[in-house]
Amino acid sequence: MVRETKFYDILGVSPSATESELKKAYRKLALKYHPDKNPDAGDKFKEISHAYEVLSDTEKRQMYDQYGEEGLNGQGGMGGMDAEDLFSQLFGGGLFGGAGGGGRSRGPQGPRRGKDMVHHLKVSLEDLYKGKSTKLALQKHVLCGKCNGKGGKDGAVRTCNGCNGQGVRVTIRQMGPMMQQFQQACPDCRGEGEIINEKDRCKQCFGKKIVGEKKILEVFIDKGMKNGQTITFTGEGDQAPNIIPGDIIIALDEKPHSTFERNGDDLVYQAKIDLLTALAGGQFAIPHLDDRILLVSVLPGEAIQPNMVKVIPNEGMPAHRHHTHGHLFVKFNVEFPQSNWTDEETIAKLNGILPTRTPLPSLGNKHVDEVVLADATGYQAQRSARAQYEEDEEEEEGQPGVQCAQS
Ligand SMILES: [Zn+2]
Ligand SMILES: [Zn+2]
Repeated sequence: MVRETKFYDILGVSPSATESELKKAYRKLALKYHPDKNPDAGDKFKEISHAYEVLSDTEKRQMYDQYGEEGLNGQGGMGGMDAEDLFSQLFGGGLFGGAGGGGRSRGPQGPRRGKDMVHHLKVSLEDLYKGKSTKLALQKHVLCGKCNGKGGKDGAVRTCNGCNGQGVRVTIRQMGPMMQQFQQACPDCRGEGEIINEKDRCKQCFGKKIVGEKKILEVFIDKGMKNGQTITFTGEGDQAPNIIPGDIIIALDEKPHSTFERNGDDLVYQAKIDLLTALAGGQFAIPHLDDRILLVSVLPGEAIQPNMVKVIPNEGMPAHRHHTHGHLFVKFNVEFPQSNWTDEETIAKLNGILPTRTPLPSLGNKHVDEVVLADATGYQAQRSARAQYEEDEEEEEGQPGVQCAQS
């Protein structure tokens, strides 16, 4: 006589069903309700799997038959196994093709891969232009050399009995109609999964199995590398027992440059030249990123205008790997002379040299006032002060209306 039949009902078998009958029933239902095949079935698949998980275990089935679901509380539970794992354990992975079926459950035996460690390395544009080899010191975890990552003498490390080495204890509790799994760190081993006696503990790593180590990496920055580009040191990440170390990834952060702006493999340089050089030609110097100086000639009569852009071909950044160069664009800023040219002789000369003035538009019969210019500096402050004053006045004018509305 069984106390309740719920799990048997779920699988559609009688409480006297044999092991092979149970398996057959589960197989049929699990295939039908597997989320890959029947995504609308909701928790049905989990329910079936849970029922089978209990009934296929002789000990658990006995408890269930005797005490019902209640009796399963505190019985060690599913040991972290979920419906999907149970399913692939019985039928093997990839039942429905590809990674769908068993693919979701990662191989529980295979070692995990550790995290990649990303370090940012600030590099100057000069370094990216010339290429550079730099040493980078960083702190990482390595397996303790004294105990070979075991944490203590041979035989000193015991698997924790409290959790069978899992580090966690799982309990299943009934919460209304749901079975709820609880996980907590094992109190016997403090979540470590194993126990080492105090006196047998490795003196170097204190049983932690890993120690800190300073690692020097030689980072080779190739010519033409770009901001955000990465250099990978495979397997140089933190070591830990039963873990494949991840990579150390160096990400380049290009520092802004005081004179050049980078645009892919091209460079942009802001050149300041005087008016005479702009109009009559001359030379100016661009200190380049490799300590060369480019002496640039402006041809007489080329008439460089403010904001004009010219190019010096093949003087940009080297392209990564190919090392052919981009171009150097020069954006001009023409500095006009500051002095007051009041002497008539100079004015006369300019009149003689420069192209004639643009004629005025026709004034027609409109009233004409002749005015002169003053320096704007002082006036700008006054204007904004007045604008503020006018705004305030408008607000005050608005006040009575508001008061009316209130009374
Ligand atoms: Zn434990
Ligand atoms: Zn050690």
